[in-house]
Amino acid sequence: MTTLPEGARAPRFACLTRAERFIAGSRFERPTLVIDTEAVAARYRALAAGLGRAAIHYAVKANPHPAILARLAAEGCRFDAASRAEIESCIAAGARGADISFGNTIKRPADIAFAHAAGVRLFAADAEEEIDKIAAHAPGASVYIRLAVASSEADWPLSRKFGCAPETALALLDRARALGLEPAGLSFHVGSQTRAPSMWRPVLDQVAAVWAAARAAGHDLRLLNIGGGFPAAYDSAVPAPRTYAEGVMAQVDARFPDAREIMAEPGRGLVAEAGAIGAEVLLVARKSPMDLHRWVYLDIGRFSGLAECEGEAIRYPILTEKDGEATGPCILAGPSCDSADVLYERRPVMLPLSLAAGDRVIIRNAGAYTSTYASVGFNGFPPLEVVAI
Ligand SMILES: *Cc1c(COP(=O)(O)O)cnc(C)c1O
Repeated sequence: MTTLPEGARAPRFACLTRAERFIAGSRFERPTLVIDTEAVAARYRALAAGLGRAAIHYAVKANPHPAILARLAAEGCRFDAASRAEIESCIAAGARGADISFGNTIKRPADIAFAHAAGVRLFAADAEEEIDKIAAHAPGASVYIRLAVASSEADWPLSRKFGCAPETALALLDRARALGLEPAGLSFHVGSQTRAPSMWRPVLDQVAAVWAAARAAGHDLRLLNIGGGFPAAYDSAVPAPRTYAEGVMAQVDARFPDAREIMAEPGRGLVAEAGAIGAEVLLVARKSPMDLHRWVYLDIGRFSGLAECEGEAIRYPILTEKDGEATGPCILAGPSCDSADVLYERRPVMLPLSLAAGDRVIIRNAGAYTSTYASVGFNGFPPLEVVAI
């Protein structure tokens, strides 16, 4: 990476964030994610202000870059980890074991034992075998039961693979107690990129019914974990983080006045808008003289960081140095030799007609679910480079 020399042609990108300005002022040899840790901290404070009494456990999988974890730890943020490696990263960044929850419902027994020894006290489960594993390898720990919730309106739903039905949840709380664990509470995930607080309503209603049933069955639950789902701005505007969090918490407080402890696990909502990817156009092609759409091939694709373009679910805004000129519809694709490596085709992207090989582009709000989703070397393309500023 080099920085443009003083007096070099001024970049023509308009209205840039700090990370984007950094990209505009640099030359990268390959696609590079630039993360602004100051923007992550600002976002943390905005979400924390809106979430009030709810503690934030950053969902580390969204972006485990050490500079992000260290910055959040310094802000007093807690962490939700999914594996031993993520727990180790949090501790290396300054977190204490007691500030880390082990939220993956599918854990390796050795990882449970490691977490327990490292001081992690809070574990998620949604199945009998998992409760048994936790009781065996983290005796006396606290567990929360993850519920499966229906009717998510999220752009990236997480529902079917995780969670259990209400009657199973009650049985799991009983089993945890019988095995000497603390049945602390319930958790759910409303679905990632849930664009409006109103979309939480049916999900919170389902969870409140299970909460009430558990208390009626004699479990003095203390902890409600409301998971993630806090959105980032992609192709449609979303409420500001503080406003959004306040909208969610008003609904939570109305339904769970007796929850003594509330935690939230934002991932995307904390880091997506703090990052942007500098990339390059490798080829612009028309497949035939009749072709309505140009094909624009970038040097980054689904296997090198843009995995969430799967199903065209997440639509990143794309800036070019020719923005402001006349545009036309493009099919956007990655550089690899796999025909699945198409980013947007069903809904083409409008890009400048003059766009050509060698032009630089900025992929906006790409700080979440990009760097660690990149393959190790498909077609010889290296994983996404990351620079923290
Ligand atoms: C992925 C995940 C999150 C973060 O979700 P976002 O939608 O990115 O906020 C939170 N909690 C759990 C258990 C997760 O698996």
